[in-house]
Amino acid sequence: MERGTIVKVAGPLVVAEGLTASRMFDLVRVGEQGLMGEIIEMRSDRASIQVYEETEGLGPGDPVEGTGAPLSVELGPGMLGAVYDGVQRPLDVLERIAGSYLSRGISAPGLDREKRWAFTPIVQAGAQLVGGDIIGTVQENEVIEHRIMVPPGVSGELVSIAAGEFTVTEPVGQLRLADGTSRDLIMMQTWPVRVPRPHARKVSATEPLVTGTRVIDTFFPLVKGGVACIPGPFGAGKTVTQHQVAKWSNAQVVIFIGCGERGNEMTDVLMEFPELVDPYSGFPLMKRTVLVANTSNMPVAAREASVYTGITMAEYFRDMGYEVVLQADSTSRWAEAMREISGRLEEMPGEEGFPAYLGTKLAAFYERAGKVETLTSGETRTGSVSVVGSVSPPGGDLSEPVVQNTLRVVKVFWALQDTLAYERHFPAIDWLTSYSLYLDKVRPSWDADVSPEYRARRDECMAILQRESELAEIVRLVGLEALSAEEQILMETAKSVREDFLQQNAFRDDDQFSSLKEQDLLLKTILLFHEKAIEAQAEGAPLAGLFSAPVRERIARAKYLTIDDLAVYDEIASDIETQLVSEDGKEA
Ligand code: ADP
Repeated sequence: MERGTIVKVAGPLVVAEGLTASRMFDLVRVGEQGLMGEIIEMRSDRASIQVYEETEGLGPGDPVEGTGAPLSVELGPGMLGAVYDGVQRPLDVLERIAGSYLSRGISAPGLDREKRWAFTPIVQAGAQLVGGDIIGTVQENEVIEHRIMVPPGVSGELVSIAAGEFTVTEPVGQLRLADGTSRDLIMMQTWPVRVPRPHARKVSATEPLVTGTRVIDTFFPLVKGGVACIPGPFGAGKTVTQHQVAKWSNAQVVIFIGCGERGNEMTDVLMEFPELVDPYSGFPLMKRTVLVANTSNMPVAAREASVYTGITMAEYFRDMGYEVVLQADSTSRWAEAMREISGRLEEMPGEEGFPAYLGTKLAAFYERAGKVETLTSGETRTGSVSVVGSVSPPGGDLSEPVVQNTLRVVKVFWALQDTLAYERHFPAIDWLTSYSLYLDKVRPSWDADVSPEYRARRDECMAILQRESELAEIVRLVGLEALSAEEQILMETAKSVREDFLQQNAFRDDDQFSSLKEQDLLLKTILLFHEKAIEAQAEGAPLAGLFSAPVRERIARAKYLTIDDLAVYDEIASDIETQLVSEDGKEA
């Protein structure tokens, strides 16, 4: 291994000379303790290295050793349920070695080297294989089957393969490569985190990522393979929303990247996530989750790396054919790490001190989301990575560069708003400023799998909500009486959409998840009230009577019904028909 010498230390950055054979993004070991670092700038033989651990005590003259390999993650059985730091060191292992205070220079492999996994081959000797082909499976836990693949870029004829119990580094089979040499197949792959894992092709993402949260699914839907952004004013419900998406969405694997700044933010994630129960399996959600967490005692460079570590893991599960949801919380903290390192490199600062390449980096990260056809020599296999990135701009200022650059690339914005949270309107996602650019993408799926009217109902309710906000201004100025009867009905319906549809209690078993069909039925019911109220009013029914019709109570409780309660929905519909009448309870 090549050795160099430190010439300068500046916070998380050290500059070293003599690493002539090393390249950009190579991993290096810094100082006598061998701290992990990565080369992020090369000028002739001067390497700038971001160090993933505290650089205190390092000084000029200390050694630096090149590893000749880029920062990579280990991919294989044992990732699920793990809690890693930003450079994939398992936190529990680190703690065991070092006590709760992380001492420096500890290396701990991402995957356990001792543990044996029962491997079941699904291909036979003689098969011609290419990178991406699945050679066998490991039932990693009660919930997820880990599919063992030929690493990308490798191909050949399978000479042998064996069933049995293996560690991640023991050969399970052997390939004869085109040049006649042979290569062991092991269960573990390594992959450089800054390089997207290859796939055959990207395909159009049109299948809804159903979360069961009505304001999201109906009004601002995300697709499998799509990208969304969520801001997080304090106390507005970001954590609850993230948990709902992680638990309920129709994805199999969850990757959660926690980029906290203050120590307690991360502690919350580390405490709360392992408590979540997977509603589909009844097992802890961690059985299908990987947590990448930057604790407060990890320097900025690790935070910068963590999003790449996380998304590479997501791509790996995607390659197996899974739908993956990746949540990055918060990308603002990631961008701040980028800014700090860029400052140390004395790069030309852009807006608010962020590097000029901030937008490019954010775009490149979100670009790794998507639905793809995976590499394979056999039948087409698809998988997806959906990304939900949260932003936490200082002072909630959505015009700042991280938010603006993010909004340029994401297709969905769930505008969490603290004012709604104060009013106890949950989820506090503002229907007027949120958006989804996937509405037309999901249309065929909505038409076929929900109902052909779903989209029109959604649009009508959205229009009602928008009209409500315009009329609210008039009401504020001159009072409700200034509105026409029809407008007053609209205000009443809008209230119903907000309270009976949008508001959803994440802590009520009978409310936290609505299927799309249930969401559609609810819209249909609310709109039927609207239509019948307008008809009855036109025929002379007094507004007060319409608004206080007993069926409104039933509409308010309809969100707790399920698709099995179709008969109740019918009853409500017939109540609407009979109660919304012109005069004194008599049919118009
Ligand atoms: P944040 O992470 O944005 O600081 P949380 O997600 O912890 O906020 O939410 C703060 C509080 O708001 C929660 O403890 C809960 O009482 C309430 N809340 C948020 N979302 C919901 C929801 N969908 N249903 C019910 N209560 C909610």
